[in-house]
Amino acid sequence: MANPVKLQNRLSSDVAEGNVATSVMQASSVKHAARIRSCRGRGAGSWLQAIPSAPKFVLKFSEFRVAAFLRLGIPLPYSQIVTKCDCSRSFDEHGYHLLTCKFGGGPVWQHNTIVSTRAKCLDGVNIPHQVELRNRYTDSDNRLDITTYDPTGHLTKDLDISLTHPHSCDTVQSAAKISGYAAELREKCKMTKYGQQQSIAGSDTTCIPLVVEHFGFWGPMTEDYLDKISKISKDANGKNSETADFRDRWRKQLSVVVQSCNSRVIFGKLSKLSKCNFDDFLYDKYVQHFVH
Ligand SMILES: [Zn+2]
Repeated sequence: MANPVKLQNRLSSDVAEGNVATSVMQASSVKHAARIRSCRGRGAGSWLQAIPSAPKFVLKFSEFRVAAFLRLGIPLPYSQIVTKCDCSRSFDEHGYHLLTCKFGGGPVWQHNTIVSTRAKCLDGVNIPHQVELRNRYTDSDNRLDITTYDPTGHLTKDLDISLTHPHSCDTVQSAAKISGYAAELREKCKMTKYGQQQSIAGSDTTCIPLVVEHFGFWGPMTEDYLDKISKISKDANGKNSETADFRDRWRKQLSVVVQSCNSRVIFGKLSKLSKCNFDDFLYDKYVQHFVH
């Protein structure tokens, strides 16, 4: 009898799915269930597997601590130094408000940093592109994050990158039941938005929303895009890159940058609101949880 194809892979996948289902069932709240489902996304935990062989794969110790707390759902201990945001809202213990509050520009900075990382990834595989190109649509002044070109120079794809958080009140109930719900919902909203806009005359444009949840879950359209360009990408010598290696590198690089940005947004907000060193508090709690 022939060997079943990818049997070990399928068995491991079933075991992992069973573990997720058990963890979700035992979760103490919908927020925890939504976090567990988001953390199981392909590549969401790639920052844990990244070998720090280059700066793009490195998380500082303080960034790693925040990333570990967020992934494991351990309450961040900032209530000891500050309780209210400068927008006057109260903080939640899992960092949702810190990551999504627009006061101070954290989400915009995080978005721009991810766009820049995506652009560097495209540079690395010689895909021509332009960042923040204006006037792509006749009825909108939107600047698309990245526009990529085919080898003949004609416009091909507009990439719209965005972040979303499964703990948002619009998504948390469904995100606790469906992995990646927040990312998929944002993808649909973006597709509706761009479907209603007309591209400039003569251009053949497709817009692809690349959405990531703060816990690291990339939406299905991102995975699909990653698959497609990994097959056509070429290295500096014009040779096709190894598809699996390429995907793995991108996942790790993007996973690291999302987690690094999460922690820097949190540190940035807290250092603005208090004179204390938040990492000292975090370090003590980290030692309590993981060392003792
Ligand atoms: Zn706020």
